[in-house]
Amino acid sequence: MKQNHACNDNIVKDGSMECKVHCPFCREKFSIEVLKEDGDDQDFIWDCEICCHPIDIHARWDADHEKFAISVSRGEGYDEMPI
Ligand SMILES: [Zn+2]
Repeated sequence: MKQNHACNDNIVKDGSMECKVHCPFCREKFSIEVLKEDGDDQDFIWDCEICCHPIDIHARWDADHEKFAISVSRGEGYDEMPI
């Protein structure tokens, strides 16, 4: 089952944006950095800083609010393990 969490906690820096995400595995919160120059619609994998599980991250530039809308899900093909 996929779980998505909206990011509502962006911090704008020069050319990049720090965004808080919730890990879908361990529920811990940490920050990722998204570069505006990499595009308005990005998909990438980011290993959780706490539990090291690979997280599918989708970042979409929200021009109305001038920030990235981030959604996260568990990486495809991952066999779930008890933590
Ligand atoms: Zn985690």
